[in-house]
Amino acid sequence: MSELNLVILGPPGAGKGTQAERLVEDFDLPYYATGHILRAAVKERSELGQKAQEYMERGDLVPDELIVEVIRQRVDGPEAADGFVLDGFPRKVTQADVLAEVLDGLGRRLSAAMLIDTPDEEALRRLSGRRVCADDDHLYHVEFDPPREEGKCDQDGSALIQRDDDKPETVKRRLAVYHEETTPLIDYYGERGLLRRFDGSRHPKEVSDHVRATLATLRLEDEL
Ligand code: AMP
Repeated sequence: MSELNLVILGPPGAGKGTQAERLVEDFDLPYYATGHILRAAVKERSELGQKAQEYMERGDLVPDELIVEVIRQRVDGPEAADGFVLDGFPRKVTQADVLAEVLDGLGRRLSAAMLIDTPDEEALRRLSGRRVCADDDHLYHVEFDPPREEGKCDQDGSALIQRDDDKPETVKRRLAVYHEETTPLIDYYGERGLLRRFDGSRHPKEVSDHVRATLATLRLEDEL
């Protein structure tokens, strides 16, 4: 079967993580979320984590040199030989260029950049109610997707917490950074014929049905 090399784009709060979880189940692809990788590094107090922490706390992007190598290794690794889902990378044009260069070097190309488009007000509403599990970043929402038992992860029983960068001031900064740095990628991938748009203000199930149908078509076209 042909490989699926995918990136998910969209503002914080668009539901990228939720959609990625479903994609990974449906298509059995490895999932690399840079936010997740960086938060784990901060928790471990590794060198990467120590360097990244101050930027993340402000809601700013970490410098390219901190994150690019992490992604290069993942994409080039044996686990990603049949494809991958990248969430949170690329976040700016310089990173998209690096990804293209890495894939090119491997004789591969991106299958699609999937934009989950969501208005800022909706993103804000979702992020303010978002909770993550302390152990593994499993996602919940106090209103739209509550856990079975309040404050406790359904999957591993750990405590549910609010990410520091989901607090209102940081969310505003993250949205501003998204508009400044990441939205140029919409044209970038549009010009290369790789952009696929999804309406992120719809119910997550509707979005994932649309994603699934789009990817099935993509695969079919690729095999023809
Ligand atoms: P996320 O969970 O994707 O919203 O990422 C959380 C934070 O990690 C961001 O606000 C950035 O500080 C940092 N981050 C994640 N991905 C990247 C990236 N590709 N480039 C730079 N910083 C990133």
